[in-house]
Amino acid sequence: MLKTMKRTNVFKLYPTKEQEKFLLKICKMSTILWNKLNYIRRQAFFEGRFDWEEGVDELYNEFKSILGSATAQQIIRKNNFAWKSFFKLKWLQRMNKLPKHIKNVSPPRYWKDREAGKRKLMTIIRNDRYRIERNSKGKKYLIFKGMRIRITGKAKWHGKQGQLEILYDDLTKSWYSHQTIEVEKPEAKGYKKAFVDIGAICLITAWIENERQAIAFSGKPLLSDWWYWNKKIAQYQSILKRVNNKHTSKTLRKLYRIRQKRFRHYVNTVVHRFVKLCLKKGVKTIFVGDPKGLRINNNKGKKVNAIIHNFFSYRYIIQRIKITAENFGIKVKPVDEHNTSSRCPWCGSAKFVKKGRLFKCLACGIEAHRDVVGALNIALVSMMPSKPNRRRCRLRGFERGGFNRVLAHPVLLRVSPAEAQTSPQRILAT
Ligand SMILES: [Zn+2]
Repeated sequence: MLKTMKRTNVFKLYPTKEQEKFLLKICKMSTILWNKLNYIRRQAFFEGRFDWEEGVDELYNEFKSILGSATAQQIIRKNNFAWKSFFKLKWLQRMNKLPKHIKNVSPPRYWKDREAGKRKLMTIIRNDRYRIERNSKGKKYLIFKGMRIRITGKAKWHGKQGQLEILYDDLTKSWYSHQTIEVEKPEAKGYKKAFVDIGAICLITAWIENERQAIAFSGKPLLSDWWYWNKKIAQYQSILKRVNNKHTSKTLRKLYRIRQKRFRHYVNTVVHRFVKLCLKKGVKTIFVGDPKGLRINNNKGKKVNAIIHNFFSYRYIIQRIKITAENFGIKVKPVDEHNTSSRCPWCGSAKFVKKGRLFKCLACGIEAHRDVVGALNIALVSMMPSKPNRRRCRLRGFERGGFNRVLAHPVLLRVSPAEAQTSPQRILAT
């Protein structure tokens, strides 16, 4: 059997006035259904008498005439799924096996826009209850519940059509739909390994097995952009407080969103570029150092530290590498960098000094780029997790106890944030 994975196509909706009225009604009722069911379940959970059946039939019967039975059923299923994931996490927590980045486990929330303090407007259309049509001029339409709504957006993924979620974005006053697509999982034909160090100054530094030189993608454009928007946010915040004595506003939320979008866009572009390079070089597995907690105490100056605490979302970057690699059939393995002290990758000595971006080995005298040292150490840690017996590392490029053929400095690769992200399915097809 072929393995599949789920991906999402995003479309923007342009409903007419009439259509919007109808959409608002369906979404409002869908949200009420979700919230009512969730209320029953939360109450039951906190009182220690959870029951999957409680209230379900009553709510289904109440809402099926308004929403249609398919949508009522999809919303109940989504709520079931949310509770199942919650119980699974709870169980992992009890077994002490909770993934490190999850700090607290809480029951499914209500459909509510927490920042705006309003009800969230969304609904779910079952896979067999809608279709997307293209007219002779190439214009796309979403057809469901007797409506034909104009939509825009590229269908990045092609495969088996899944459910469609429709939601209203209060901030931009726009309607969007997220279409789930089930696609076949590709498998990369390569055999090599790549080792990645993630950081703030160099977003990605990677060494691919048997290569003479590591590669690096700068994080500097990201940092300066982040600080530009930070300043704007701070300025606006002080005006808000002074003039209206308020802490939040729509404009402020918009600024936060811009900052996040720009951050994510840059990360996505870099990751996409990197993974495509891995594909070209014949990589089968990417090992990513998970530096959780490692760098927080490093004194890298106020700016960089603030970024590590507040925004430098390693989680997001690692997640992006994982998903993008999977799109191209490459596996990703996180490597715990905890409790591993770095050594000189060339001679194995533990005697070295680090200064700024530089690493200097006191035994063999090599002066190297810190993040290259990081990536090579990740290679060593992931190849011999238990016994750091340096002489027996089975990697192409590792000889006589060290990475003797690997250069001490990386080649810096640039991306332009405007670089288009072609669909992985299309890239693999060519
Ligand atoms: Zn050395």
